Amino acid sequence: MAIRALKNHHKYIFVIGGVMSGVGKGIATSSIGTLLTAKGYRVNLVKVDPYLNVDAGTMNPTEHGEVFVLNSGLETDQDMGNYERFLGRDLTADDYITSGMVYKHVIEKERALEFGGKCVEAIPHIRDEIVHRFEHSAKVNKSDISIIEIGGTIGDYQNVMFIEAARVLKMRHPNDVLFIMVSYLPTPGKLGEMKSRPTQNAARQLAGYGINTDFIIARAESPLDHKRKEKIAVSCNIPCERVISAPDIESIYDVPANFEKDKLGILLLDALGLKSKKPDKSFEAWKRMARGIKNHSNREVNIAIVGKYFNTGDFILSDAYLSVLEAIKFSAYEAGVKAVIHTVNSRDFEGNDVGRPLPPRRDEVSHIRSAHPTPVAASTGEAQAAGFEVLDKYDGIIVPGGFGESGIEGKLNVIKYARENKIPYFGLCYGMQLMTIEYARNVLGLNEAHTAEINPRSPHLIIDIMPDQKKKLAEGNYGGSMRLGLYPAKLAKDTIAQEAYSYFQGKRLPKPTAMIKERHRHRYEVNPKYIERLEKGGLVFSGCSPDGRLMEIAELPREVHPFFLGTQFHPEFLARPLQPHPLFTAFVKAAKVRLGGR
Ligand code: GLN
Repeated sequence: MAIRALKNHHKYIFVIGGVMSGVGKGIATSSIGTLLTAKGYRVNLVKVDPYLNVDAGTMNPTEHGEVFVLNSGLETDQDMGNYERFLGRDLTADDYITSGMVYKHVIEKERALEFGGKCVEAIPHIRDEIVHRFEHSAKVNKSDISIIEIGGTIGDYQNVMFIEAARVLKMRHPNDVLFIMVSYLPTPGKLGEMKSRPTQNAARQLAGYGINTDFIIARAESPLDHKRKEKIAVSCNIPCERVISAPDIESIYDVPANFEKDKLGILLLDALGLKSKKPDKSFEAWKRMARGIKNHSNREVNIAIVGKYFNTGDFILSDAYLSVLEAIKFSAYEAGVKAVIHTVNSRDFEGNDVGRPLPPRRDEVSHIRSAHPTPVAASTGEAQAAGFEVLDKYDGIIVPGGFGESGIEGKLNVIKYARENKIPYFGLCYGMQLMTIEYARNVLGLNEAHTAEINPRSPHLIIDIMPDQKKKLAEGNYGGSMRLGLYPAKLAKDTIAQEAYSYFQGKRLPKPTAMIKERHRHRYEVNPKYIERLEKGGLVFSGCSPDGRLMEIAELPREVHPFFLGTQFHPEFLARPLQPHPLFTAFVKAAKVRLGGR
């Protein structure tokens, strides 16, 4: 088979889950990335999702978590967002691999007669295509070490080809490939004792695929004692020091430092025959951030996220808005406040309101408390009698991205209330479109103003579909066909947006920022026919595409409202713990001002 020699002994670390899913494999992978970067190596992180969807764009976020978007426009699993946040840099489309992508490519080659009359089979053709993608990602990133997370758990049918590809790489390059099994040690309440048997069985099952794991990251409620480490080491055939204790901890951003307690970074380098280069100072900054983000302030700003996704039973709502939540967290730290996030069900505002604190995100739940997701209780009826004044308790309101009709009128009502009562408002994508519709309806008096997504027959299509998008929909071409990925926008002078972007990490830049680049994921746009009318009516378009055709940011002047701003793009995808997003920071600061005044 066509596996080339590893150039300059490029190293691969495969992260595979044992025992069960949902125990924080993505955070473990991200954290190893942080650690090895801090040791002076250029690292790339790859996520393998074994499903047959070609990308994550067609999946429902209420079931599968947020759809993350890369600069390239590829729609991915939310883990890619974690990777970018932990590495502090942008990932490429070559760093995400699904079974769907691999099979589609191989089948298209077969249709183009590229296999020269051979029978095309899972082995070798699918496996080799996977190996090729692993190698290609390393090359594109010019990295020293690739860390590849294989989705699912050992024993799944779906990920077998990826495990087989990893085995073959190891067979060819025994000194350059490592395996880490992220396992879980349950402590059944009745026994009160941590059980290692499932981990031993998972290691055995992996051995059945021809792979001996080199390290075990042992997730558990509490730290592993020496006795258990030894037991696992002996039964899984690895030195005791390579059993890494990974207890539940308060914040996911503590995980890299926690791994360091067991010297994971150095042990991994040793196992790969590498030495630590000069330590990177960024790890000190990371540790400071991780410490600070937890307890830096007890001044609490209450932020409401208005969504429609709340009555879907046993899923973690917080996963659907993961990047938004993290973006708020980073900016709250920068602004010197603690953000308490509340969910608000927009449907309850078609007349009434309900709000309650948000449960922790799934990977935090797993790293913090237990491996079981906390279901969000059905939210209807709780405050049926309450009026819109219940919104006064929030210091800031966000309407995040979304699709479709449900909950729309409630969102519009909330936006109207935020505008009229000067509550800081931040609209993300759909939240910006709806804010523009609300303005057209209630300020310009265009009562039937709407978006073509919901009512294409409205006489005032404030938000409309662009001609190229119309064509795609007519062809039934839904996958990966929105306006996706990084696009530039120019900022208008003396606006809230420009002011916000003229700060970087709390410091004012020497010149006001004129151009930005942000990530997009939408089909509809502000209708050019209404721009003049909206502007005359007082709405300011403070960011637009360089050719001036597409509206990217809308806001009200500071004299009219302290912060009423929406973006057609998704700023949350570029918020990083060491580089909070300027618009989120400006929003949280406005919320802080409101808190001060209450
Ligand atoms: N549904 C809207 C559109 O397609 C907004 C999308 C979003 O919020 N990501 O344009």
